[in-house]
Amino acid sequence: MRIYIDGHCDTLTNTFDEKNKISNTKYCFNTIDAKKITPVIQMAATFINPKYQDGFKRANDVIDYYLKNRADTVIIKFKKDIKSVIKNNKIGILLTIENGRAIDKDLNNIDILYEKGIRAMSINWNEDNLLGSGALTTSNLGLTNFGKSYLKKLEEKSIIIDISHSSEQTFWDAINCTTKTIVATHSCCYNLCNHPRNLKDNQIKEISKRNGIIGICFCSPFLKEYGRANVTDIINHIAYIINLVGDDYVGLGTDFDGVLREDTLSDIKGIRDIDILINALQNYGYKESTINKIMGENWLRVINNAI
Ligand SMILES: [Zn+2]
Repeated sequence: MRIYIDGHCDTLTNTFDEKNKISNTKYCFNTIDAKKITPVIQMAATFINPKYQDGFKRANDVIDYYLKNRADTVIIKFKKDIKSVIKNNKIGILLTIENGRAIDKDLNNIDILYEKGIRAMSINWNEDNLLGSGALTTSNLGLTNFGKSYLKKLEEKSIIIDISHSSEQTFWDAINCTTKTIVATHSCCYNLCNHPRNLKDNQIKEISKRNGIIGICFCSPFLKEYGRANVTDIINHIAYIINLVGDDYVGLGTDFDGVLREDTLSDIKGIRDIDILINALQNYGYKESTINKIMGENWLRVINNAI
């Protein structure tokens, strides 16, 4: 049995905005296509676009809409939920927050988000916020004092700390602020593709030392500097991390339903096409045990250790 776990998609935010169901096959991640490859755990983000002044309200709107329209998905809050997804061959949803702006100025909002099921939270999106500087910053502000308190609170609640979208300075400040596992839910390798959203080798090594994971993002501009990316580029980034730190620290971070149409891959368009990746990993020569780690077992370890 192979478990599929993906670190990031934006589907829930879109279904809320478009008042659609998560079974709608127009979405790259949807429960009809996911059902064909169960067991599946999708880490599903509530993305707080900086255009929303009231981040906490926005977060609750998206999460509440999912909770009312969750169909037969299992919400992953505790280890027992993971066991149940695997045993009953189900689709699990692990709720995440993309952009710490979701808490506005109040750390107590983290308690409320946790109660609703949030189990992973990023510090940033691309812009600077009250917590720290984002990947596309022009400052070297790093993590603010409020950001440090935010990370302490995530630690306390055992919420997974996601440094995707944080600036390099914020990343290192976060490393100095916490001894916990750090993950990058959807990022790629800077050494292969020079993009501010990608991770440098010393960041990848630090994540591996923390027993974390990097979810490779299916977004062309992060994968190659020119032209449209495809499965070969995904393999290149996976292989790069494996060569650098071994096969325990890389997984998927597809960003399905979060990538501009022109930036999507030319071949893998959604969870329905995931066999293309599995075949490419086999052709590359990876053994079954490594492929299983990449497709889900590495994420499974990280989640099981955290929640
Ligand atoms: Zn993102």
